[in-house]
Amino acid sequence: MLEKFERYPLTFGPTPIEKLERLSAHLGGNVEIYAKREDCNSGLAFGGNKVRKLEYIVPDAIASGTDTLVTIGGVQSNHTRQVAAVAAKIGMKCRLVQESWVPFQDAVYDRVGNILMSRVMGAEIELVDEGFDIGIRKSWEAALEDIKDKGGKPYAIPAGASVHKFGGLGYVGFAEELRAQEGELGFKFDYIVVCTVTGSTHAGMVVGFARDGRTRNVIGIDASGTPEQTHAQVLDIAQKTADLVELGQDITADDVVLKTEYSYPSYGVPSDETNDAIRLCARLEGMMTDPVYEGKSMQGMIDLVKKGFFPTKSKILYAHLGGVPAINGYSYIYRNG
Ligand SMILES: *Cc1c(COP(=O)(O)O)cnc(C)c1O
Repeated sequence: MLEKFERYPLTFGPTPIEKLERLSAHLGGNVEIYAKREDCNSGLAFGGNKVRKLEYIVPDAIASGTDTLVTIGGVQSNHTRQVAAVAAKIGMKCRLVQESWVPFQDAVYDRVGNILMSRVMGAEIELVDEGFDIGIRKSWEAALEDIKDKGGKPYAIPAGASVHKFGGLGYVGFAEELRAQEGELGFKFDYIVVCTVTGSTHAGMVVGFARDGRTRNVIGIDASGTPEQTHAQVLDIAQKTADLVELGQDITADDVVLKTEYSYPSYGVPSDETNDAIRLCARLEGMMTDPVYEGKSMQGMIDLVKKGFFPTKSKILYAHLGGVPAINGYSYIYRNG
């Protein structure tokens, strides 16, 4: 589906699939849980899902003759860190708008983890005191204008690289990659669990898995706390991406399965149950997840297994999208483990 699109390689290649044997057994052994390690996909500052998306965006940035990648996220955004790394790798400047999407937990929240790395990689960072919103923001548009006023050539990458015309392609590629891996493994996954916020990861999967009728087997776990907006954005990106790749199939609202009961208390703030899930997975598998995204999808998957949502013998693939650097901003919560 992606042959006609240019891809700039930024990842190591197909990401490994690992069986989570001890977690599966701990949850009763009725289902088999695996993880596809998107968190280990690249050497660019710890990688993650945004690097996979950016492989299809960078060729456009280079072709358009721009010199500065401009994007936006929260203070501990993984996305902005990945854009900073990619800018360094391709020899462009980077301007990041980082908004107060999360009430600060730790005194050093704006100095450690993702934002620390973005600064070390040379990105110019502007901290803006605005709350959470996955839509297009004034602060980001102002940064684009400011660069133009100063004679620079900005390239606009929206939050999460999602509402970009090529934002959904990377995770269409994930589906194609998984199909090839399933051929080697000799079985197919029944469900794919994914954390959803700005939407193009989930949307790309919906399109990519439409080919083998598994669209509704992609189980999105909302971590935005604004699930209606997120659901609408996933659907919109999926429909536009389906047109772009000439899928030849309609994508409807029911194709976007989004579980909304795990994002509490709010975006970027882990509940006790999220923290329990992070600790459980870390202690059984040595696999780290973060309090903003993957801890919530881990919590959601564990809860759905316990509730019997997945039929017995299901093979479940947890898409681990990265994000662990952000845990450094939450050191107080984990001071005793
Ligand atoms: C961005 C991100 C997500 C959410 O992906 P979207 O495409 O924005 O929905 C999930 N997990 C991690 C670690 C992320 O950085």
